[in-house]
Amino acid sequence: MRPGSLGIALRLVTRWVRGWGSGGVLFASSVVCLAAAVTLVSCQGTSVPRLGDLLPAPATPAPAGEPDVRVRIKARATSSRIEAPVRLIARPVGGGPPRALVPPLTITTSPAGVLVADSVGERAQFPAAADVEVLLSASTSGAGHLTVDGKPQPAPVTIVPRWRDGGQIFDLVATMPVETYIPGVLAKELFPSWPMQSFEAQAVAARSYALHERARARSSNRHFDLESDTRDQAYEGLTRLTAALEATRSTRGQVLTTRGPGPAGVLRAYYSSVCGGRASSAAEIWPTTNGLEFNLASPLQGLPRTHACTAAPLYRWETARKTDELTRRLKAWGREAGHRVASIDRLRSIDILRQNSAGRPVIYRVTDARGVSVTMTAEELRVACNTGVLSPTGAELFPPVRNGPTHVRGSDLDFLVRGDDVLIRGRGFGHGVGLCQYCAKSFAEQGMDYRSMLRIFYPGANLENAY
Ligand SMILES: [Zn+2]
Repeated sequence: MRPGSLGIALRLVTRWVRGWGSGGVLFASSVVCLAAAVTLVSCQGTSVPRLGDLLPAPATPAPAGEPDVRVRIKARATSSRIEAPVRLIARPVGGGPPRALVPPLTITTSPAGVLVADSVGERAQFPAAADVEVLLSASTSGAGHLTVDGKPQPAPVTIVPRWRDGGQIFDLVATMPVETYIPGVLAKELFPSWPMQSFEAQAVAARSYALHERARARSSNRHFDLESDTRDQAYEGLTRLTAALEATRSTRGQVLTTRGPGPAGVLRAYYSSVCGGRASSAAEIWPTTNGLEFNLASPLQGLPRTHACTAAPLYRWETARKTDELTRRLKAWGREAGHRVASIDRLRSIDILRQNSAGRPVIYRVTDARGVSVTMTAEELRVACNTGVLSPTGAELFPPVRNGPTHVRGSDLDFLVRGDDVLIRGRGFGHGVGLCQYCAKSFAEQGMDYRSMLRIFYPGANLENAY
């Protein structure tokens, strides 16, 4: 698991509460040219494939210096459907004859290579070991887009079969200028009604995170830069949400940087949903060695600060476990992680052993009925509380707690063990490093501008233009 994933995976009361991400914020689905599907008449009204059908539409040029990002919009897929209002071109990455196809396209892969079937019976089989990109044809008028499994996406989209897994499954990767990507993150991360300054603060954090992760991906030759879900940043696809588009425009190119102490450069600007009042420290919850030294960056370490997320639904919350159940969950996690908690007896208490300078627990002491104690980090403990316990036959012994009110949603926790019951009291939702989305909302409502907010969330970071 990448260090960013756990952090950002925890945030987002937004999506958990509402499961939103469709409806008004999206483009209406592209209207597929039904006439073309039946008669080979293109949407432009000509019955003969034109030269333009085999030429890719010129991509909208990104202004000088603006990087592109490759977003994995689908992982380990077995089938996918691509729609567009114009003919599409599929061609092998790195060279090879292009094929003009009439959408919708159905994508599958096999050890023999990528197969793209179109709506008029054409089947384009590409050779094994070739990734294939799908582009809009030059017949496109104006700024076009694809619709991939119902979500509008910019072209090109690249089909990347997983050859090492036999080629039966594939990833889809959309490539786009970073300023095209950011609105799709904002539309998924924040509620449309939230104030503009909260969108602007989120835009700068998301852009900084994206460029940081992009650099990491390219240095390791990964075939994509960013996941489209909480492993990196939730990404909606192309959006028409006005606040998302305006906040992206008004902060164009702006990123957070750090000059130390700790590693210098673009800041990996983590953010989470609800800090609960006590900021977390990246270096206390994630690894800091073997290429992950960026977690030592000074602006990512929790300091006492003002907060305003008290109205958030998960500012304070409670859940419970049976003592035996929690004991077994901790032990199961310990076995997976190779941690000494695997050997504890029945749980007696869990106490805070150390807090960071913001007062947030960093290390807990877990004591069993024999009086034996082990220590766990706050993040380890959060994960362990949610770990499933499997029977010898592979069935879950306890009801799943991965979502909903029994899920332990953060790592700022108090435990009260009373006989057979454990009461768990939590503060906030998510890892608590960097920007707090609900704090940003309230700060904005109080009239604070995004630059001031970013100084609070990332103390000591600089706001600079990357391009
Ligand atoms: Zn907060």
